[in-house]
Amino acid sequence: MRIQILGSAAAEAVPALWCECECCEYARKHGGKDIRRRCSYWVDDDTLVDFGPDANWQSVEFGIDLTRIKRVIFTHSHEDHLDPVELSWRAQYFSRVTKMIKLFGSRRVHERMLSAPLLNGFTFDRYNEVAEKLHFEPVELTPGSETRDGDLEIIAVPAVHDPKEDCLNYILRRGGRSILIANDTGWWSEAGWDFVSRYRVDAAIIEATFALSEGNLDYDHGHLGAHAAIRFRDELVRRGTLPAGAKVVVNHFSHNGNPLHHKMEAYFAGSGIEVGYDGKVIEI
Ligand SMILES: [Zn+2]
Ligand SMILES: [Zn+2]
Ligand SMILES: [Zn+2]
Repeated sequence: MRIQILGSAAAEAVPALWCECECCEYARKHGGKDIRRRCSYWVDDDTLVDFGPDANWQSVEFGIDLTRIKRVIFTHSHEDHLDPVELSWRAQYFSRVTKMIKLFGSRRVHERMLSAPLLNGFTFDRYNEVAEKLHFEPVELTPGSETRDGDLEIIAVPAVHDPKEDCLNYILRRGGRSILIANDTGWWSEAGWDFVSRYRVDAAIIEATFALSEGNLDYDHGHLGAHAAIRFRDELVRRGTLPAGAKVVVNHFSHNGNPLHHKMEAYFAGSGIEVGYDGKVIEI
């Protein structure tokens, strides 16, 4: 499997649009790996994980032919991960679309699709009409579900992120290789850890939203700080889900945690964990 990070930031991006903080000022001036788009992943040629407000920019920058995408798998409905407006341009006239895609996500993800202005007036009981209009097949996922689509297995891990909805982390498996994508999440529940303990993965992407934020290195309620991400990796290894020494990448950083790339690399040096950036490719 080939997984490319399309965005390594949390909701506000880096630099955050209006922000005067030291991190954002530095990122504007220096660019490079300190420019972080909203979090999303490209898996092989045919799958996206999340589709947020930077999708257009990401598809151009990283050469993604969206007409070849067969499915988008959503982690949750937050604005940085799901942009119903950009998806709604699949409607006739706005785009010429003949190919169907599948949209995987929780009930809340599908409900939020209806917030696009183009879909004004549609209620959820008419969701199949919306799906037809936008050429997609909705697939509702629940925590703990295992779904196969073609040769891709999608295992929905219950995240601990927003109590108002079923947020999902994923184990994606294809051709005998598998990766855990764990954003957005805090420390999993005991049931979540037990669930994941049934699986083995070859690599993991772990969020570190609070990054190097002073006093929040060990924060693990709904998001993780940098040191909490290390503990999270260690727990995956302790439970046998992740082999010791397997590739682990941290991702999804808030500018509030001052995640300048050189500072993040210095923090994780010697930990065996790599720091995510926009464009980084993980081959497993
Ligand atoms: Zn997020
Ligand atoms: Zn900032
Ligand atoms: Zn979120």
